[in-house]
Amino acid sequence: MTASSPAAALEPFLADPGAAAVLCDLDGTLAPIVDRPDRARVPGRVRVALARIAGRYALAAVVSGRRAEDARAIVGLEELTYVGNHGFELLLPRAPAPRPAPALGPRASAAADFAARLERSGLERSGLRLEDKGAIVALHWRGAVDERGAEAAAERIAAAAAAAGLVVHRGRKVLELRPAASVDKGTAIEALVEGGGASVALYAGDDRTDLDGFAALDRLVASGRLRTALRVGVASAEGPPEIAERADLTVASPAELVPLLVALAG
Ligand SMILES: [Mg+2]
Repeated sequence: MTASSPAAALEPFLADPGAAAVLCDLDGTLAPIVDRPDRARVPGRVRVALARIAGRYALAAVVSGRRAEDARAIVGLEELTYVGNHGFELLLPRAPAPRPAPALGPRASAAADFAARLERSGLERSGLRLEDKGAIVALHWRGAVDERGAEAAAERIAAAAAAAGLVVHRGRKVLELRPAASVDKGTAIEALVEGGGASVALYAGDDRTDLDGFAALDRLVASGRLRTALRVGVASAEGPPEIAERADLTVASPAELVPLLVALAG
């Protein structure tokens, strides 16, 4: 932990959960990072805590780069709100399907159209793994035989994608190609908090895209929508140093986040 006292930081949440929002990233935050993203799991203690948080708080949401339905399957709780695809999808509690972010419009298929034109044999040779995430296409090199070579191949594709008008986002051993639209985890968090009744909110995250979530909390406080915001950073060797620099409270791993969630659950 950083010098900030966790007990003091959580006090406004525990004092009035009905006016508080709890939002968390999934991979590297609620679920430990694993070599195969399809094997990511949320520990049982976290699931129990999140279920209690959903019952007590004004808003309980998971904000992920994954598809919203995949995030819900990994967490295993229907009663949470899920933001998927870095803000491009919203899956409400118990909803049968996600809805696209309205800001996307006809650009929703731009990344998929670009990926469909890539040469498949070249991708296989480089060891890059292509993930179709609806509006977003992800290029993974974690676990490739030659991770450096695969990363270089991803950078070449990213340059072509940028030239084609797509937006490139960098994560932990992954590059994402997205349609050009003002949508990110931060705009999604802003919309959720503005639409709910919370005056206190926290967001926990570990990676570069989570900095958008921290920035959203800054904006919500500046506009007076939030009285108190808590930015929780999950530090890691692969994540950007800005996570710890911008956080009000930093934990060293997803495991160290668990006691905070249990305390919030009451
Ligand atoms: Mg993450």
